[in-house]
Amino acid sequence: MEQIVIETKTKQYPLFLGEGIIESLPDILRQLSFSKGTKLLIITDKTLEQLYLSKLRALLANDYDVYTYVIPSGEEAKSFEQYYACQTAALQYGLDRKSLILAFGGGVVGDLAGFVAATYMRGIPYIQIPTTLLAHDSAVGGKVAINHPLGKNMIGAFYQPEAVVYDIAFLRSLPEKELRSGFAEVIKHALIRDRDFYQWLRQEIRELADLKGERLQYCIKKGIEVKASIVREDEKETGVRAHLNFGHTLGHALENELGYGAMTHGDAVALGMLFAIFVSERVYNISLDYDRFSSWFRTYGFPVSIPKQLNINRLLEKMKGDKKARAGTVRMVLLKDIGMAEIKPLDDETLLALLRKFQR
Ligand code: NAD
Ligand code: MG
Repeated sequence: MEQIVIETKTKQYPLFLGEGIIESLPDILRQLSFSKGTKLLIITDKTLEQLYLSKLRALLANDYDVYTYVIPSGEEAKSFEQYYACQTAALQYGLDRKSLILAFGGGVVGDLAGFVAATYMRGIPYIQIPTTLLAHDSAVGGKVAINHPLGKNMIGAFYQPEAVVYDIAFLRSLPEKELRSGFAEVIKHALIRDRDFYQWLRQEIRELADLKGERLQYCIKKGIEVKASIVREDEKETGVRAHLNFGHTLGHALENELGYGAMTHGDAVALGMLFAIFVSERVYNISLDYDRFSSWFRTYGFPVSIPKQLNINRLLEKMKGDKKARAGTVRMVLLKDIGMAEIKPLDDETLLALLRKFQR
């Protein structure tokens, strides 16, 4: 079992990583001083309930008072309705400030359950037990949120967990498209901060099927190290944390234009990264070997061009709605080189021209 310490200005907590480590959860809870009889509320989704919930409950039932709340699978569950229902469950089960919430699932469960924990009785402890590859990103750093019909992740908090317990054995049942989606964020972490890791990825991950066992664990570890180093510097996204939005300016616009669920987050981010590389070459007048990136992304099955039916002007409007935009100017994360990100404001005309060129 590997252990990484996640450090922010407000809190320091351990992340445990390994295959089969969920068996150690009772020990970990004991180490964290959750005494016998503590009330635990497991928040999870329908898919994970069917696959693993009885096993998880059985692990904990001897020592703890275990309750569960199951949300539907998918992004729609990051809603005010599900948030409210979780709070109702917590109240009905009599959770108090000493109780613990376990967020057992992907980024949807992590974000929702984390926000429930952040606000129930003004904040109670929670632990992230991620089950997707994408969650190497979402389970670290303490951003928790629900969606509003007018915008994704618009209601939330910065609230760090007590620990993250990442058992990669859960990832075996992950559908291929979800694995690919999470892998886009792994690539993102390499591209913005870790050139060596990027080179390792090119060598070792020739296809998605290579994402298993030790290689998968290494990808998660390196991705988390990048994320953790950024969060250590900038917990509340006043500076360098914005680099994590590499690929996300166009990515979010695409997801929004196509309707959530039509394209996975990772596919949208991969295409957004490709666009950002395309833009970087032109803005800095450098070569990042765009064509090689494009064919590399294609081998994993990522989309490499903007769907023809999408209107570029509308995409630009969506990009301007990004949380990073200031006074209507898009601020994109670009690469000055592999491993070196920078934020660059771009005016509408420039961006529109680049989007047109890219769509061809
Ligand atoms: P998800 O939680 O919806 O999981 C994807 C799908 O896989 C779901 O259908 C789920 O039921 C299923 N699934 C999960 N684990 C499984 C397993 N082990 N086996 C089989 N199926 C499994 O989505 P996600 O991609 O993990 O996360 C996306 C969410 O994360 C978005 O809402 C995004 O906003 C959020 N996010 C948050 C942060 C952050 O910093 N808080 C960062 C990135 C993304
Ligand atoms: Mg993302």
